[in-house]
Amino acid sequence: MQANIVNLAYLLAAVLFIFGLKGLTHPRTAVRGNFLGATGMFIAVVVTLFDKNIVSYELIIIGVVVGGFIGSVLAAKIQMTAMPQLVGLFNGFGGGASVLVAGAALFEVLHMGTHPPTQFTIASGASGLIGAVTFWGSLVAFGKLQGIITEKSVVFPGQKIINSFIAAVGVVLIVWLVLSPTNEITYWLIVAVASILGVLLVIPIGGADMPVVIALLNSYSGLAAAATGFVLNNNVLIIAGSLVGASGIILTNIMCVAMNRSLTNVLFGVMGPTSETATADEVYEGKIKSTSAEEIAMLFDGARRVVVVPGYGMAVAQAQHTVRDMANLLRDRGIEVDYAIHPVAGRMPGHMNVLLAEANVPYENLKELDEINPTFEQTDVAIVLGANDVVNPLARTDPSSPIAGMPILDVDKARTVVVIKRSLSPGFAGIPNPLFAADNTLMFFNDGKKAIIEIISAIKEN
Ligand code: NDP
Repeated sequence: MQANIVNLAYLLAAVLFIFGLKGLTHPRTAVRGNFLGATGMFIAVVVTLFDKNIVSYELIIIGVVVGGFIGSVLAAKIQMTAMPQLVGLFNGFGGGASVLVAGAALFEVLHMGTHPPTQFTIASGASGLIGAVTFWGSLVAFGKLQGIITEKSVVFPGQKIINSFIAAVGVVLIVWLVLSPTNEITYWLIVAVASILGVLLVIPIGGADMPVVIALLNSYSGLAAAATGFVLNNNVLIIAGSLVGASGIILTNIMCVAMNRSLTNVLFGVMGPTSETATADEVYEGKIKSTSAEEIAMLFDGARRVVVVPGYGMAVAQAQHTVRDMANLLRDRGIEVDYAIHPVAGRMPGHMNVLLAEANVPYENLKELDEINPTFEQTDVAIVLGANDVVNPLARTDPSSPIAGMPILDVDKARTVVVIKRSLSPGFAGIPNPLFAADNTLMFFNDGKKAIIEIISAIKEN
């Protein structure tokens, strides 16, 4: 295929990617954005296949079938709550693919006996380095989130110095590869050093910071792909990789802000303050008031405004459809109902938005932190559905808490707070929540979905 046509098609694909990303910035345009991005990728893949007719189509088809099968099974089986580790694994495979593709391209050139240009060797080395860091870092992240290895931060003396030293060795090896691009072993040494670095970079990162790391590894996988684009001289790969790299960094920053963490603290395993916070017994003893569906229905009788605060528990219970039904029922009775969405509620960015969109909850009713917080004082009933850390007032009041300074949803300012969860177990951060013991809080101990179904029937009976 003519180079001009190929590059024109790649340009079209790149434009579609960019418009696709633009579309993804708002829920209303997200479906169109997704479609534009997918069309761009389709064009890029088809053009590449026809352009590079040296590859065997049989092998490609086998790869597509095997990969497609594994991907579909994984995606169908995975629980929504295990999405972060699946995304982490996919990032890792992206990095691994970059290592293999850049390595194969390098060997092909070396075996032809030609002297590769400097750009080519630098890009191969960078792809091997970033790709292997991404692959091993993602595997460790997967292991932590899946509970295969400890979720806690693993730190040891001199860790930063050792990591910096290994990174420096990786860079020196890339320089070596550029200066003497005849020895394949140098490439594998880069990959080996980067693999150790990938593991060491992620083990100090503690449980609550894992989502930030997944976003960062996503960015790395994009950078590795962009480097591979330079190796293959493939413009669309360079552009797509750079877009992934940039959007991953932007997401990382958004999540750091949402969790009140600096990126350096996340990367070097510096946890938020963790000195002894009060024990669960001290916080809860004698102060917990249980309630029932009937009592909650009675609360709604005199209510004008209700705010639903969904969290991880709503995802576990798959209560998004029932909670929508409850909200519709309340609206039919003249009550204003909004949803308060915390940026890190659940276990992945946008987790609550995705679930509520799946249940056709209108976007106008999903209110972000800044918008909803000033309204809690005028809220009659706040229904906290399986949320815990994101409504924990300790973030505001206890500077020694591990979530100190994290912006939270100020539900405690509502007239009455109803918390729906199964027990007094802590959330992701592992700390008690004084909200449950507050004077204006009632606890409804139940599975999220069952609780809402019971509340709906109680409202109807009332
Ligand atoms: P939390 O993890 O703080 O709390 C969830 C609560 O849900 C638990 O206390 C649990 O209590 C309850 N729960 C579990 N299953 C059910 C069920 N079937 N029915 C009802 N309740 C249930 O969740 P939040 O959403 O408040 O906060 C998210 C936390 O996760 C934050 O600390 C955040 O930093 C972290 N995080 C966020 C990610 C993201 O990208 N959004 C990714 C990874 C972590 P009980 O067992 O008693 O029912």
